[in-house]
Amino acid sequence: MAENVVVIGGGPCGIEVSRNLRDMGYTPILLEKQSELGGHLREWDRLFPEGVEARKVLKELTSDMRGVKWFTDAEIESIDKSRKGYTVKVASGMTFESKVLVLTTGFKLFPAEKKEEYGYNIYERVITNADLEHYFSTHKDSRVQNPKNIGFVHCVGSRDEKACNRQCSKVCCATAVKQASEIKELFPDATVYCFYMDLRMFGRSYEDMYLNAQRKYGVRFVRGRVSEVSEDIDGKLFIKAEDTLLGKPLKMKLDLLVLMTGILPGDSTRQFSEMLKVDTGEDGFFTPKDTILEPCRSKENGLFMAGTCTGPKTLPETLSEARATALQVHKYLSK
Ligand code: SF4
Repeated sequence: MAENVVVIGGGPCGIEVSRNLRDMGYTPILLEKQSELGGHLREWDRLFPEGVEARKVLKELTSDMRGVKWFTDAEIESIDKSRKGYTVKVASGMTFESKVLVLTTGFKLFPAEKKEEYGYNIYERVITNADLEHYFSTHKDSRVQNPKNIGFVHCVGSRDEKACNRQCSKVCCATAVKQASEIKELFPDATVYCFYMDLRMFGRSYEDMYLNAQRKYGVRFVRGRVSEVSEDIDGKLFIKAEDTLLGKPLKMKLDLLVLMTGILPGDSTRQFSEMLKVDTGEDGFFTPKDTILEPCRSKENGLFMAGTCTGPKTLPETLSEARATALQVHKYLSK
């Protein structure tokens, strides 16, 4: 009988680890605490740089789950480690044994309301990158009403000591450029500003996406932080910022402000780090055995981890890491 391998976290990473383990002859047990597989991909509309539909990617990923035993609403109650491996108990009462354990517990987005100065959940026309993706999918959000002046604020909850996160979230510059271009497609008469610290367009053809945003869509990139947001009597937003390239303070009225919230470790990262006594870094993400040579393994024997539970990553990076992790698990179990 094929050997069980328990994978915790049913986002794209967990799905891809499981499918690859299945292809290698194992029986993956994929446990997801939400009621559906897919993680954040379910909530996203299009993916940079080409604008591929997220739901199509998810459909493709979940198109062939034969041989993968997957369970949703599977809240982990306890994990016991013994010499033989792991015993994972789910709140519903099910128990699974596995010589190895793969954690693909993902990330959460920074809660925008924590940066009170931007007025999320205070002023109606302040939304987040996730809200905007939802709007792109549904075209339903009373806060988005034919906006004429739109601002995007980069690095919300990232690169910010006050928000207890010094690190760059890696993907939000590219997301901002993608969303700024998309919103211009929807509202061609709008003027769109991106307020950034640095633009981190690191991937293949990301620079083209940025140039396209400037040349085709006329997005205006302003180097500087938004320092203050308030609301006028007419419901418009009044913002103060600084253009650090020109060395000038800026004040402007906007109809919509989009906060590019950064990537934080998922809530279950802490839960599993305590349960399994696994190290996390100062940033809260799991620490691998070796960040260069063994990024998918923990120091703990038989424990593997992949995707954004070890730090911010793009989706292609996450999927590549998922495949690499499946191979590492196979090598470990074949010894
Ligand atoms: S990717 Fe860009 S927006 Fe995101 S944290 Fe890094 S610099 Fe800021």
